[in-house]
Amino acid sequence: MSDQDRSPADTGTWVLVAVVVCALGALALWALRDVLRGEAGSSGARDANTPATQPAPAESAPTSESAPTRPASQPATRKWSPPRFAQRRQERDRMVQVIRWYGLADQAILNAMTAVPRHEFVPGGLAASAYADRPLAIGHGQTISQPYIVAEMTRQLALTPKSRVLEIGTGSGYQAAVLAEFTPHVYTIEIVKPLADAAAKRLKRLGYDVVQTRHGDGYHGWKEHAPYDAVIVTCAAGQIPPPLLRQLAPGGRMVIPVGARFATQSLMLVTKDKDGTVRSRNLMAVAFVPLLRKDPTSR
Ligand code: SAH
Repeated sequence: MSDQDRSPADTGTWVLVAVVVCALGALALWALRDVLRGEAGSSGARDANTPATQPAPAESAPTSESAPTRPASQPATRKWSPPRFAQRRQERDRMVQVIRWYGLADQAILNAMTAVPRHEFVPGGLAASAYADRPLAIGHGQTISQPYIVAEMTRQLALTPKSRVLEIGTGSGYQAAVLAEFTPHVYTIEIVKPLADAAAKRLKRLGYDVVQTRHGDGYHGWKEHAPYDAVIVTCAAGQIPPPLLRQLAPGGRMVIPVGARFATQSLMLVTKDKDGTVRSRNLMAVAFVPLLRKDPTSR
């Protein structure tokens, strides 16, 4: 058999093999996509156009695996898809059921609470209790808030994908991750250095890399990124810190527990009208750890 005789047949075979390999590759990718997505049933909690996908890629510098975070002043430019987690999903569903029993029916909030893996934010020893509807100790005398309170405070902020939100009291980073389910413009401040460092690392590791973290006294807010459409304070203040009020945008909303330490406080919703008029109203009685003015771990 000459080369000419064999050639067309071989070419045909190779083309067939190539087609099969490509088809198998495409199938494998498709299957992998489902696995990475993890939760076929969960819809995104944010912008309806944003598909729920695998953990977000590194942001502005695709060439580096450990890409540095975006410079503080630069807003998110890419479409933000929060990470998705399949582990302990049933427990999250039950936790969300409890939140629903309180009367919270906002589906976007319930979706966000279903999406964030709370067990990743609690100390290892408390992992079994991660989805119980109560606050849990996170070290340094601080707590991760009760899931229902996290859900209700988030709801009060009326977030959209464009909202700029400031959190005072990063703690474990859990509330910040819930906020990031709605918007990539999340700024959070923690006064206890070891907590601030751990939360920053955790948020990055989990793929909530859009959250910008800072160690410091949140009483002063974070002027560089102001004004904020939403401010959430997760520690109790004797009164509303004036800098936070100043950094609230016209039309903005703030939730903050106000009251004496070691007592129950009033969870206040503070709104600023377009014309700058500030109004506040009491939402419910709560018990938060106090807003500190000094890092207890610094000397
Ligand atoms: N939002 C947190 C829970 C926070 S508990 C979470 O999801 O895990 C309250 C947090 O506020 C504590 O971590 C406490 O250290 C922090 N805190 C207290 N005073 C602060 C201040 N002045 N500025 C920033 N953080 C403060």
